[in-house]
Amino acid sequence: MASKKLSTLFLQGFVLLVLFFGLIQIIVSSQGLFMALELVGLLFLLLLSVAGFLHYKKASLLSLVFLLYIFNLVAIWYFYGSLYVILLLASLFGFLISLPKKKPASKSRVVPYGDEPHSQVFEPLPPAKEAVVKPAESETKFTPGKYVASKRSNVYHEPKCDWAKKIQKDRQLWFADRKEALNKGYKKHGCVQ
Ligand SMILES: [Zn+2]
Repeated sequence: MASKKLSTLFLQGFVLLVLFFGLIQIIVSSQGLFMALELVGLLFLLLLSVAGFLHYKKASLLSLVFLLYIFNLVAIWYFYGSLYVILLLASLFGFLISLPKKKPASKSRVVPYGDEPHSQVFEPLPPAKEAVVKPAESETKFTPGKYVASKRSNVYHEPKCDWAKKIQKDRQLWFADRKEALNKGYKKHGCVQ
């Protein structure tokens, strides 16, 4: 990202350099009031460009410089009838590459902030619900069971049997009746009548 920004900044600097020399060529070949106006404009753009490069992370001064170049070239075209196509295209190009750098940044800033409240509001809720529901479900699963076995054995018991009471809760396997226990391959303990 940083290198990409630097390369676009370098590209903008190059385009600005081309534009400066182009504008200097225009000024040199011109005369009178136009020359004076363009010189003042060039100095202004030069200062703005320096400021733009110094604060390229914050302000979009460089795109303003390119925009002023476009206006200047269009004005020259309009008032003096000379169209500098390459310079106009260069300033348009410079303007375009100086713009997208700002727009995606502001968009990517907006999107995460827009998403975060949602994820913060909605994501913690389902786990909280599950945490509440799960114990209730596991309790209702256990209570209808009439007989209990350990998952590690093949013998089932009456819940009141001393052996049944020794089975740890996470190893308990409950059956509704003898048939279910038998079907699952469990044999009855002596406690089962
Ligand atoms: Zn038993």
